[in-house]
Amino acid sequence: MDGSTTIETIERVSAAASAGPPLGMLAELTHRCPLQCPYCSNPIHLLKAAEELDTTTWLSAFSQAAELGVLQVHLSGGEPTLRQDLEEFVSALASRGVYTNLITAGVTLTAERIKRLADCGLDHIQLSLQAIDPEISDKIGNYKQSLERKLTVARWIREAGLPLTLNAPTHRHNIRQTRAVIELALNLEADRLEIAHVQYYGWAARNRAALLPDYETVLDEAAIVGEAKERLKGVLNIDYVTPDYYAQFPKPCMGGWAKDVITIKPEGKVLPCHAAESLPLAFDNVRDKPLAAIWYGGEAFNRFRGLEWMKEPCRSCPRKDIDFGGCRCQAFALTGDAEAADPACSLSPHHHLMAEVAKSATASAPPPFVYRRIGQA
Ligand code: SF4
Ligand code: SF4
Repeated sequence: MDGSTTIETIERVSAAASAGPPLGMLAELTHRCPLQCPYCSNPIHLLKAAEELDTTTWLSAFSQAAELGVLQVHLSGGEPTLRQDLEEFVSALASRGVYTNLITAGVTLTAERIKRLADCGLDHIQLSLQAIDPEISDKIGNYKQSLERKLTVARWIREAGLPLTLNAPTHRHNIRQTRAVIELALNLEADRLEIAHVQYYGWAARNRAALLPDYETVLDEAAIVGEAKERLKGVLNIDYVTPDYYAQFPKPCMGGWAKDVITIKPEGKVLPCHAAESLPLAFDNVRDKPLAAIWYGGEAFNRFRGLEWMKEPCRSCPRKDIDFGGCRCQAFALTGDAEAADPACSLSPHHHLMAEVAKSATASAPPPFVYRRIGQA
């Protein structure tokens, strides 16, 4: 081991020693989903039902999470309602005082099941909206009558007395519908609306040329959202996630690597971020190791924890504890170096790559979608 490797090891050990507990958990219960959105954040290689953790292992993971200090669990997928043991998970988490949020496409839900989940202690539902135009909605999810179904489900959620967030991923095919999406959220009495530009990992990276909107249209949309946020203060909480491709600085990805959030994939792999499998790292599995040992001692968790791993320009940058150097997955995907500054940053020597990719993606008519399907990889 040479001197620099020793220093690196000491820095990583000290970052691990100063880590606090995770506050949130993303539990990806399954990759199965009736929809096939081309921007899905699931990996290209999707897992089959037989590869998923069984009920007992998930319950053990949730119990360990509560002991570790997790305060809220986001039950996600794929489509989490395809797990018939979902009610058991919600009850177990609620009995430990953990806040539960169900992230769903909604089309599989019935009024009875929503009521049952509420009775088990579910705290919140986040319902995705593909588009406000029925034809575009069906085209994006490759699922018939999706919008009609989702509007009914949104009403059932409110009737069950559960808080509702509408989650509207934005891209080239629906960006001009933002005003109508805001109106719909008001009509449905949603508590929160998330207008989030697609993040280009997983299936979205494969479909980037079909999905990325041009800069001028993004500016128009940002103005619409900005005006609505002001006008609807106290009525509707609007969160807006902008596209990295036109950014000056990157987002503080996950609020810092392995800082607040822990993710478990359907087969039990434990990750610091849901997209981290794209990085050349080894991940532990909750089937083999206690969750606390993975969070505090796992190699992948300590790889980018803290600020000591950074190279220039991040290492001496005054923004390094604001954005933590941005997204490791994006840095690796575009530069081949997972320690590089996120190219979304205007200070990165690779920033020009973002502009070049955006220019070539938006220069011509969008190609057809590559739909998300098990086995498509
Ligand atoms: S993004 Fe679409 S395909 Fe992926 S899990 Fe959500 S609803 Fe299913
Ligand atoms: S140089 Fe690094 S730390 Fe500074 S703003 Fe850019 S990504 Fe963030």
